[in-house]
Amino acid sequence: MSPDRATPPLLGDETLLYGWGGTAPTRAHLATPLTNADAHHLVSAAPKRGVVARGLGRAYGDAAQNAGGLVLDATALSGIIDADLERGTVTARGGTSLDELMRWLIPRGWFLITPGTRYVTVGGAIASDIHGKGHHVDGTFGNKVQSFRLLTGTGEIRNIHRDTEPDVFWATTGGMGLTGVILDATFELIPTETRFIRVDEERCADLDAMFAAMESSDAEYRYSVAWIDCGARGRHLGRGVLGRGNHAFFDEIPKAKQARAHTFGPRQLAIAPPLMPSGLINSWTVKAFNEFWYRKTRVSHRGSIQDIGLFFHPLDLVDEWNRVYGRRGFVQYQFVVPFGAENTVRQIIEALSNENLPSFLAVLKRFGPENPGMLSFPIPGWTLAVDIPVSRTSLARTLDRFDEMVMQAGGRVYLAKDARTRPENLDTMYPRLPEWRAVRDALDPDHVLNSDLARRLDL
Ligand SMILES: Cc1cc2nc3c(=O)[nH]c(=O)nc-3n(C[C@H](O)[C@H](O)[C@H](O)COP(=O)(O)OP(=O)(O)OC[C@H]3O[C@@H](n4cnc5c(N)ncnc54)[C@H](O)[C@@H]3O)c2cc1C
Repeated sequence: MSPDRATPPLLGDETLLYGWGGTAPTRAHLATPLTNADAHHLVSAAPKRGVVARGLGRAYGDAAQNAGGLVLDATALSGIIDADLERGTVTARGGTSLDELMRWLIPRGWFLITPGTRYVTVGGAIASDIHGKGHHVDGTFGNKVQSFRLLTGTGEIRNIHRDTEPDVFWATTGGMGLTGVILDATFELIPTETRFIRVDEERCADLDAMFAAMESSDAEYRYSVAWIDCGARGRHLGRGVLGRGNHAFFDEIPKAKQARAHTFGPRQLAIAPPLMPSGLINSWTVKAFNEFWYRKTRVSHRGSIQDIGLFFHPLDLVDEWNRVYGRRGFVQYQFVVPFGAENTVRQIIEALSNENLPSFLAVLKRFGPENPGMLSFPIPGWTLAVDIPVSRTSLARTLDRFDEMVMQAGGRVYLAKDARTRPENLDTMYPRLPEWRAVRDALDPDHVLNSDLARRLDL
């Protein structure tokens, strides 16, 4: 880092910034560039603590924070630049939200890889190399990206194509914003005939039944995800509801829905009240909720026609739902272990249940093939994501223990969700870290791009 970099007049107000989990807020100057030239100016004049881009702040931990430095709010750099609806590609600016993209694309017969919320930006989706319910078929968001423009820490704006500069491409895809600011990107879309998903749901009585159902028939579905009741014990351990689906064809949807087969205008139904008491989510409330959720699904049903929004983004129905966890916030622990390490998944669910750690909506997914991103999270195997309120001091120790188990099994935690793992774990979890560092150092020798996550994990 050059010691004499000036504090630029453009620096925005000092603002307390949170990740979605709300556990480790820090103050930074928050500036909102309106043009690429503004972004260039800000990065070129970044303060000593550096700069990092921020999208819609849906990373759970500290990835889009930069204590004492500059945070570049990229959400005003938004909008669709170009679309080729014959071939199914779109070019959008880095701050464009997937919500905005879907509202434009779905009525035109196209869809894209989406995480569990539409409120993420294109830049955030690439930086975390996000996955959705269809990873076993489509891979990550990065697998659909053809090229992007990157504003690097040296102030250069580079056109990066996946075929001509694979190193920079795959260091940036999953690189948590630390190789530069993504100004825009061109990516491939998924064709759809309607705005509906044809869904099959089944209850699985325990974890083995769940693994078996996913292994034997995930291939028949483009989308697959299981909700696990982490409070169930004994012979019910790992019970849950498996939901899988494919895009519905026009002639599969009921006549009454055909006139609006392409309309997409989801609305939020409610807003969570301002911060609720921290103790509200406890093992009792969660147990009751999980029991209700398990029972509400009939043992199995096939072929229900669900709106895309409801199938992929049920949590988006409630604005700012993260506030129900109260002031202390919550951690989302998401790990992946390779196939063959099913026992690690079982042991972690068992520990959650035995230690009475309240966690609702634990989500299990079976990943497809390895991703080329140097720091991308998915590997072929099982991933479990669990939300746990921060209410006890022993949580940190428990999660450190889980990290050990995950590493022993050859797995890793997801950086976009992480707020607490230790730097010494990173080499084991992400063996391509040295390769990534070499590309990052060549692009940004002074480490102008920096974040709380980068400092915490010594990236
Ligand atoms: C309810 C919910 C469900 C989720 N479900 C999933 C899921 O199913 N699968 C999944 O993979 N993830 C999931 N996530 C995580 C989310 O997809 C990622 O954290 C994503 O990166 C958030 O995008 P964002 O625009 O909010 O970025 P932020 O959270 O603001 O930032 C995340 C990272 O992206 C970087 N970044 C943002 N914009 C740019 C840019 N223009 N240029 C360069 N870097 C940039 C930041 O520096 C930071 O490192 C979920 C999150 C929530 C809250």
